[in-house]
Amino acid sequence: MSLSYGRPYLAIPGPSVIPDPVLQAMHRASPNIYEGELHDLTHSLIPDLKSVALTDHNVAIYIGNGHAAWEAALANVIAAGDKVLVLATGRFGIGWSEIAEGLGAKVEIIDFGAQTAIDLDRAEQALAADQDGRIKAVLAVHVDTSTSVKSDIAGLRAVLDRTGHPALLMADCIASLGCDRFEMDGWGVDVMVSACQKGLMTPAGISFVFFNDKAGAAQNTAVSRYWDWRPRVKPEVYYQYFAGTAPTHHLYGLRAALDLIKSEGLDAVFARHAKIAQTVWAAVDVWGADGPMKLNVANPAQRSHAVTSIAMGSDAALELRRWTEHKCGLTLGIGLGRVPEEHYFRIGHMGHVSGHMIMGALGTIDAGLKALNIPHGRGALDAASEVIATA
Ligand SMILES: *Cc1c(COP(=O)(O)O)cnc(C)c1O
Repeated sequence: MSLSYGRPYLAIPGPSVIPDPVLQAMHRASPNIYEGELHDLTHSLIPDLKSVALTDHNVAIYIGNGHAAWEAALANVIAAGDKVLVLATGRFGIGWSEIAEGLGAKVEIIDFGAQTAIDLDRAEQALAADQDGRIKAVLAVHVDTSTSVKSDIAGLRAVLDRTGHPALLMADCIASLGCDRFEMDGWGVDVMVSACQKGLMTPAGISFVFFNDKAGAAQNTAVSRYWDWRPRVKPEVYYQYFAGTAPTHHLYGLRAALDLIKSEGLDAVFARHAKIAQTVWAAVDVWGADGPMKLNVANPAQRSHAVTSIAMGSDAALELRRWTEHKCGLTLGIGLGRVPEEHYFRIGHMGHVSGHMIMGALGTIDAGLKALNIPHGRGALDAASEVIATA
């Protein structure tokens, strides 16, 4: 029999669950794009996006996914031949480096593997070795979604300051914005990229580049008109916000999503994500006590609060994902970028995720382990509910 008739649950690390108020806000006729409500709504998004990123600086909106924001950010400050240092902790760091290569940058990658954060000492050595300051930008992914590794971006700023290195600090917060605490100004980040379909709970399609004055002063004047962030942050006419037609319905959806964050409060949003992540970790620890399951990241301080990567050591991960989806309507994330991919799965717990949702997801995984005879420790749901009980 199938128990999948009911509301499906997409528990992957993006796109995330779309809240009903976001769906409802998008369910409307096309608005007037020349004047009126849509213009006011777009203006209203800017301060709220900045407050989620904890910055007073600039934000440019692009119609595109996270890859577009990667390219937009680089195109504005990196010219062909410029050197960038990429600190990779998973597939997304590598992906950003490939975009930089495509733009003609000279890319140096330090790959920290798939289970630990950026090693700040190694980063410091690389920057100290760059005596004549040829590295124009340091690229770091705050939370690499493929591994669920979280790195210390404030610590990276301190490394740049200690070495007196002038490079721009560029952070990818696509998986962390609105989930894990991130403070653009407080942590001294010059450029930050994000997108709307993860912590911001809106269907994929718009992305953001935040940048401060130091990044603005490093402007690559050869940037193409389309990627140029200057008209997008100081539009003289409305269409310059988007270099063309506005992404009308996404803007309504994002407005509703930002309202949800505002009404919950950003600190409460971070605290909820932390609690839900701890609930997941507690369950996996018990499952793994008597079987092959293991959290990918050993150090809790280096674990994302938005996504958890779990190693199974066999194709059991693939079988489990199939079972939870087909039997119970719960879709889990693939082992993206891992070798072999079938040995890993991820639980996305970013954005619009409540205590009962995560308990349901964990209960479904627990049932799948039993149905498939995958060895596992008993009592994971008890451990999870103990964490929820102390909320
Ligand atoms: C999802 C994600 C991306 C890619 O975003 P797309 O919208 O799929 O292009 C890049 N970086 C991180 C950290 C992500 O989580």
